[in-house]
Amino acid sequence: MRNYLKHYINGEWVESTGSETEEVINPATEEVIGKISLGTKEDLDKAVQAARDAFPSFSQTSKEERIKMLEDIAKEYENRKDEIIETITDELGSPLKISEKVHYMMGYNHFSQAAESLKDFSFMEHHDGHTRVKETIGVSGLITPWNFPTNQTSTKIASAFAAGSPVVLKPSELTPFAAIILTEIFDKVGVPKGAFNLVNGSGSVIGDGISSHPDIDFVSFTGSGATGEKIMKNAAETIKRVALELGGKSPLVILDDANVEEAAKAAVNHIATNSGQVCSAATRTLIPSSMKEEFEKAMVDALSEFPVGDPREGNYVGPLVSKKQWDTVQSYIEKGMDEGATLIAGGTGKPEGLDTGYYVKPTIFTDVKNDMVIAQEEIFGPVMSVLTYDTIEEAIEISNDVVYGLAGYVYGKDPETLRRTASGIRAGRIKVNDTKADFSAPFGGYKQSGIGREWGDYGIDEYLEVKTILGYPGK
Ligand code: NAD
Repeated sequence: MRNYLKHYINGEWVESTGSETEEVINPATEEVIGKISLGTKEDLDKAVQAARDAFPSFSQTSKEERIKMLEDIAKEYENRKDEIIETITDELGSPLKISEKVHYMMGYNHFSQAAESLKDFSFMEHHDGHTRVKETIGVSGLITPWNFPTNQTSTKIASAFAAGSPVVLKPSELTPFAAIILTEIFDKVGVPKGAFNLVNGSGSVIGDGISSHPDIDFVSFTGSGATGEKIMKNAAETIKRVALELGGKSPLVILDDANVEEAAKAAVNHIATNSGQVCSAATRTLIPSSMKEEFEKAMVDALSEFPVGDPREGNYVGPLVSKKQWDTVQSYIEKGMDEGATLIAGGTGKPEGLDTGYYVKPTIFTDVKNDMVIAQEEIFGPVMSVLTYDTIEEAIEISNDVVYGLAGYVYGKDPETLRRTASGIRAGRIKVNDTKADFSAPFGGYKQSGIGREWGDYGIDEYLEVKTILGYPGK
């Protein structure tokens, strides 16, 4: 049993000032695996004060000191590898291989990348007539969701540390244990007192408290659009800058010269990885009408390569994070059937033999029209909508006909058509074929997918203000 009833404030583990706790459930077994304290506004005030006190010295640390700190964190993170993987599998239900290759690695890459990006980062630029200085924004409040417990926390913390901003973190109450390990890592490597503070708790108390706190200068949030809207409204009262990483309904456009088997497997991979609980996953596959039957068959065949089951037993698809998420996904599958889409795989209910755990059948709908709810709303589960198109212009128009713009994917061979499609999709990150990940490249959304960019040098910029000095002496 992991009982973590303390918050981490000003370099120490401290008792909560409240007595409320929340149980954490393993979604594969439905068993309670531990407990956290639900912090109070008083706990938050203490954490913000500690961060404010740390600001004058932490923001003035040298670039070299911060690079060393980030490298030390990455090293210690590697030392905790097995524990991080096991913890994410237990709290999120992600299969051990995904916890390692995706979750563990993303956290590691963000700390290493921030150190690398900082090496070339310029905090002062001289121009004709003026000098531009980038200075730490102040104290940052970080609020993160459950679907990538080390990715979102690490990218925000690494960028904030690179910029010299002290932080207060509130991770998701559904998956809080990975953040406890991160906190232990920061403690071990000697992150200065007050530069990192962790307050566990609910969104309505600690999350709301962060976004409205007069002594927090910047809020970086990842989560749902509905919460993002509340955070923006709260932040408006103190004219606080916000960065929002929200939902998506990303398209995967298959060109008519694509290898059908490979493209179908890539499509299924999008809904299978992390059980489809990925903000940037492609959940609408657009195929040329002429390929419809061949492609649909290839998708169904590809499903066998993504077995569903116990995340500790070598399966590719684990359970969803919670009963609430399971119910939501079920209602979308029902909605797709009611709307008249054709179900070619999966459906409602649990997969055979998996009665315990929040497992869902990977589900594929075809004959989907883009105005159907299943094509417009983020489902956040293993559910794919397949749509057809006749021209590239039509594929681009369908791709853009949603309120989101987080990501887009193009699969095929002809370079000119790949370029045209990649340029036409209005989204913050487009991936052409199976190009590998790049942690120095900006990540963030257009439209209702968010405001701002994380990762690499763009991520560091979010935690900085720009000062102009006219007549800088010596220049
Ligand atoms: P959520 O919005 O319910 O919760 C996210 C965080 O906000 C949690 O820590 C929660 O406690 C907190 N919160 C809840 N109410 C709050 C309030 N009133 N004020 C402040 N904070 C509050 O989202 P979730 O269900 O945890 O995560 C899933 C969502 O996150 C999906 O929509 C997904 O697309 C999105 N997401 C986006 C990205 C991205 O980078 N764009 C990445 C991952 C997830």
